Amino acid sequence: MAKITLDNLAHSYFPTPKSEDDFALKELNHDWVDGEAYALLGASGCGKSTLLNIISGLLHPSQGRILFDDQDVTHAPTAERNIAQVFQFPVVYDTMTVRDNLAFPLRNRGADASYIASRVQQIGKMIGMEAELDRKARGLTADAKQKISLGRGMVREDVNALLFDEPLTVIDPHMKWELRTQLKSLHHEFGHTMIYVTHDQTEALTFADKVVVMYDGRVVQIGTPQELFERPAHTFVGYFIGSPGMNVFDAQIDGATAQIAGTEVALGAGYTPKGGKLQVGVRPEFIRLTSDGTGVPASVRRVEDVGRHKIVRLDVAGREVSAIAGEDDAVSTDTNGITFDPKGINVYADDWRVAAEGEAA
Ligand code: ADP
Ligand code: MG
Repeated sequence: MAKITLDNLAHSYFPTPKSEDDFALKELNHDWVDGEAYALLGASGCGKSTLLNIISGLLHPSQGRILFDDQDVTHAPTAERNIAQVFQFPVVYDTMTVRDNLAFPLRNRGADASYIASRVQQIGKMIGMEAELDRKARGLTADAKQKISLGRGMVREDVNALLFDEPLTVIDPHMKWELRTQLKSLHHEFGHTMIYVTHDQTEALTFADKVVVMYDGRVVQIGTPQELFERPAHTFVGYFIGSPGMNVFDAQIDGATAQIAGTEVALGAGYTPKGGKLQVGVRPEFIRLTSDGTGVPASVRRVEDVGRHKIVRLDVAGREVSAIAGEDDAVSTDTNGITFDPKGINVYADDWRVAAEGEAA
């Protein structure tokens, strides 16, 4: 297992990039802590696979260095990096049995036969294919083949890191949950450094200790699920994580007060933003409905009952705002305003979060 350091890393697929826009991966400095499980989360095209392939050595960065435990591997081939990578689509040897597919990485490293036999049995069980170990991979479903790919990725215990690039895409929904749970327990058991790429927030939040959120070639926040929920560092994080995502209001800010849609709102802390486009972000969980004329004027557009709670869609100055109400809360037809719980308020300047006065950085 290893700590992985990204030092001044950037990548462009163009031979002579002319501007920042030409970079699929903008400059990045980061340490992936040894033994942690990370999820790399972001929309399609934001640079997740580019970053993963640079770490594994399938791609050489146009700028910067990669270190494994302080050893520079920037130009080392994949085979020398001692990592396992699982891709979105299955990579299996069709003419081999499931057992031989799983054993392949161990045989390659000269592991002894009895160890291989027991380890393959263990992994076969983990991926739910114990009964099919002696079948040829040819003719198996895409689903089953992908389970073999996952198993092969997990079979070695001595890797520097395990990298997964949207590995559950072709797996059926029930098995997805099962395999994700298996990956998590594998992490607890062996403590591998794991990097798991996904565009699915549920997958990211349930799998990882730390979620790395990417947007447009940039890492915009690295944090625990709780940090991403409570203190989104960028409006994109607020919007992308959460269901529904964070509401963002255009605002003027004066100390501990904001003006939103012509109404004064107490922010609960003082802010001194240095200018730029100012906004206040509030997650639906922290919005309360009023019907006595207090708060920011709002009217109910519709109520969606999603089981555990209700999502109330409101109109605030012509824009849709979402609030969450309890399953048993009646949503008054007299609703005419909203107020914000100060502990759920974040302030943004040009989409980046502004720390409150006195807040620890
Ligand atoms: P993700 O995995 O987050 O969907 P990628 O890392 O695959 O994103 O892609 C990031 C950007 O780089 C995208 O704009 C994509 O079109 C571009 N890109 C990816 N691979 C190549 C390539 N081989 N050649 C040129 N552009 C590429
Ligand atoms: Mg990708």
